[in-house]
Amino acid sequence: MKEEIAQLDRHNCIEDCILELFSSSDRALSIEREIDAIAEEFLRRDRISTNLDLGSIVEQFRESQISAETSDLSSYLKDLTENVVLHSINTYSPRYIGHMTSALPYFVRPLGKLMTALNQNVVKMETSKSFSLLERQVLGTIHRSIYDFAEDFYQTHIQKNESTLGVLTTGGTLANLTALWCARNFVLGSKEGFTGIENEGLTAAFNAYGCEGAAIIGSQLMHYSFDKAAGLLGIGEKSLIKLPVDRDRRLNLSALRQAIQTCRDRGQRIIALVGIAGTTDCGAIDPLLEMAEIAQEANIHFHVDAAWGGPVIFSPQHREKLAGIEMADSVTIDGHKQLYLPMGIGMVLFRNPYLAKNIEKCAPYTIRKDSIDLGKRALEGSRPGMVLFLQAALKIIGKKGYEFLIDEGIRKARYMADCIRKQAEFELLVAPEINILLYRYIPQPWRQKVAAGQITELDNQKLDRFNECLQSLQLQTGRTFVSRTTIEIDGRPTIALRAVLANPLTTESDIDAVLEDQLKIAAQIPTNDEEVCR
Ligand SMILES: *Cc1c(COP(=O)(O)O)cnc(C)c1O
Repeated sequence: MKEEIAQLDRHNCIEDCILELFSSSDRALSIEREIDAIAEEFLRRDRISTNLDLGSIVEQFRESQISAETSDLSSYLKDLTENVVLHSINTYSPRYIGHMTSALPYFVRPLGKLMTALNQNVVKMETSKSFSLLERQVLGTIHRSIYDFAEDFYQTHIQKNESTLGVLTTGGTLANLTALWCARNFVLGSKEGFTGIENEGLTAAFNAYGCEGAAIIGSQLMHYSFDKAAGLLGIGEKSLIKLPVDRDRRLNLSALRQAIQTCRDRGQRIIALVGIAGTTDCGAIDPLLEMAEIAQEANIHFHVDAAWGGPVIFSPQHREKLAGIEMADSVTIDGHKQLYLPMGIGMVLFRNPYLAKNIEKCAPYTIRKDSIDLGKRALEGSRPGMVLFLQAALKIIGKKGYEFLIDEGIRKARYMADCIRKQAEFELLVAPEINILLYRYIPQPWRQKVAAGQITELDNQKLDRFNECLQSLQLQTGRTFVSRTTIEIDGRPTIALRAVLANPLTTESDIDAVLEDQLKIAAQIPTNDEEVCR
């Protein structure tokens, strides 16, 4: 009897506890304020992270049992703050200048709450209605910023069921994949006696078109999302042709002409030519105009990966750098990079509003043929109303605001490059085309040799190890941060420090502080010892 009552009690508690989670009570409001305070406190910290190394916090993340009982929210929050939030990275820090992630405008946080609260699913109209229309509208706006077609064009296509001006994705990776999926299905589409690659697969497609495989062409600096795309689309990573770049890290055009010819000679069908507007490693911009002309002449789909550099179109002073982007058949832009939006917003825009018909799918219970459902022409299924952030930013920051942000990033990158040129302790490896620059630290014993251009392979190996060590010590010290990459210089893979000047909060004195911090850390690293940093 006693046992039964206890069981009943527990049952009632579960019911009350769980149902309370779904209602908006005073308690819910107070928890919300508590969470806001956690975020505020985290963002006010002037350190980039704790100086604990990964090895010592990994132990806190080994438990794999689900909690058997319901738990009290406050104790959950305490645990979250101490174990997870504390060891996160403060990407808002003005001295965190190593990656493509930075501070966000304040309006995105409350809007995020609204988006989560409304819980719209833009996969179909029945779960989103206005949000689906909004997404089409906003993608139309970005489309117009790139292609600038006539008002008529946008009036016709922006909400027309058969048209797709763009697809919103969770990031640049999926945007690139979506673009190439469209291109593949177009290039190996249906024709007499063949219903298309999407339906019949690669072997049948190659037979139908009498070709020996397919290829995607771009520079060796293409983002690794193209390797993923080549694998997923079935053409194979080996068929992703990576061409050499010139000294300015832009695709070599004569290598491109040669590669197109080689593909033709081998009977390889070219799915797409990829131009990069802002490489991930150093922000270089391919000769888009020349590439567009070559693609047009050879009748090849031209895709521009502007995940990073796309928003440069908003700067009248610098947009010339992207000349030719308006000739692209498809363009990728990331919202969570230089549009200063939270993670999870990428997009691909299409010159031809009917291109995405090549990936169209329908399902009897949801995505119907005659509906305007966004899930119909998209790689992803269920998606949240992330477009809200994009709409807000385009309205609130606007063209002038983005112009300012882009121009400032470029100005600050040039400032940092000048500082580096002036200091014998540093060597500028790649000057910024936009707002990314590559450099390295040169310890005292090598400075004269570097100045005289007499660095040997052995010297370079030591400089590589020194810079690797400097960068990881800097991360662990946690006061300032730049990232690191490997770039080919005179045919040799070289370790470089990488600064990304994209945080609006970063000032010239923050840049000075980052370099000074590096001098301080470098002074503690021995240069003659083989055991450096080990
Ligand atoms: C960041 C980036 C990508 C990938 O985007 P994600 O949003 O990380 O998926 C692709 N290409 C370039 C040039 C990038 O900078």
